[in-house]
Amino acid sequence: MHLTHKIALRPTPEQADYFKRACGTARRVWNWALAEWNRQYAAGQKPNAMALKKQFNALKYSDPAWLDENGQPWLEGIHRDAHSQPFAHLQKAWKRFFKQIEEGARIAPQDKALRRKLRKQGVKLAYPPQFKKKGHSRDSFYVANDKFVVSGQTIRLPKIGDVAMTESLRFEGKILGATVCRTADRWFVSIQVEVKDEQFYRRRKADGIVGVDLGVKAAATLSNGESLRAPKPLKAALRRLRIRSRRLSRKLEAAKVAAGFNPKGTLPKGTRLPISSNRQKSAQALARLHARIAHIRADFAHKLTTRLCRENQAVALEDLNVSGMLANEKLARAISDVGFGLIRSQMEYKAQRYGTRLVFAERWYPSSRLCSVCGWKHETLTLGEREWTCPECGTHHDRDLNAAINLQRLATATALPVASPSGNGGATSGGVPEVVGKVTPVRHEHGHQDGSGQEENRAHFCVRF
Ligand SMILES: [Zn+2]
Repeated sequence: MHLTHKIALRPTPEQADYFKRACGTARRVWNWALAEWNRQYAAGQKPNAMALKKQFNALKYSDPAWLDENGQPWLEGIHRDAHSQPFAHLQKAWKRFFKQIEEGARIAPQDKALRRKLRKQGVKLAYPPQFKKKGHSRDSFYVANDKFVVSGQTIRLPKIGDVAMTESLRFEGKILGATVCRTADRWFVSIQVEVKDEQFYRRRKADGIVGVDLGVKAAATLSNGESLRAPKPLKAALRRLRIRSRRLSRKLEAAKVAAGFNPKGTLPKGTRLPISSNRQKSAQALARLHARIAHIRADFAHKLTTRLCRENQAVALEDLNVSGMLANEKLARAISDVGFGLIRSQMEYKAQRYGTRLVFAERWYPSSRLCSVCGWKHETLTLGEREWTCPECGTHHDRDLNAAINLQRLATATALPVASPSGNGGATSGGVPEVVGKVTPVRHEHGHQDGSGQEENRAHFCVRF
């Protein structure tokens, strides 16, 4: 079993400088490989990572584009792994793209508005590998397992020697590789370890069965009546965030004016404004705030998901179409605040560790609209209705708790029949009562990064050093 431990680093300024250059190298090689891939593909060839790498190795020490101002190949200063891994990542990214297409996804159109519209309709979109832009892509580079040594709270990396880590590696086993990455102004190393089964699997503390309604008002409502509030990091930091964003945009406008552009207009493609040190500081402060918010959010999600898996033999959740919900502007803030996508992916790998059965209700399962006592269906329930009374049996429901109880019933296979399937969401028509307690099989997926370099990091904000 593979586990990844992400540890914060304390590099010296020289080491941090090397990290930046190594990330820049990885990004530039990725862009070269992608451009070459696209060119060969357009010419009717069949590009592959191995051949591209060979092609790159032949020119990297001699091509003028890869020489510094003194005519020296600047790749020599950076360890080889940083510029060989992007080829493997690119291959992986294309493979994933074609797999998604095979599974019925549509190629994401260029038009942003159209993309949003499609996502709202629940259309799955596949994105081909993209070019990485400095300050807009995740900064990271790879180190192979035979090139570094971990001992206590230090990691010895090629070219730069010992780098201090804030804690020692938590897992024992064969080390598979490491990725150094940056969030705001901090550096981290993610070390992948192949651990023994006994270290991977955990013992559960209890054998409950719980339904969980992930919501907006409360982050999670459990079927036992408990309601958990999210720390609402974005809300608490919103004021500061707004101030810092405003400060930064004022500086950007000033820079535009100084360069002779319209302060509110968009810049012509390829324009680079000079960066003042105040604008740089301001961007860094904003990026740090975003990173802090993301960390609070991740911490909450980890604690919630660990608890749910540790205390229950079965957990039922709604299969939320997160991107579809995010397309709903009104809900967007509250949902992104709680971090649903995060909660779901963590649930998936922790359920595997604790041997917890994970049940996802299908997308159209009316968990909120079904009376959990008698099965009457509230066809006209709106998002704003937090409470309602069932006209059939007279039970007064809290919306979220009712949904959680319905989900728990799914996990225990005592799901209520839905008397009149509505057209809403594509349930079958016809007056025959139908049990919709269909359970989707649990997909066990790994929680570790796939390292393809394509992942989006929300904590990462446009910042330059
Ligand atoms: Zn009822």
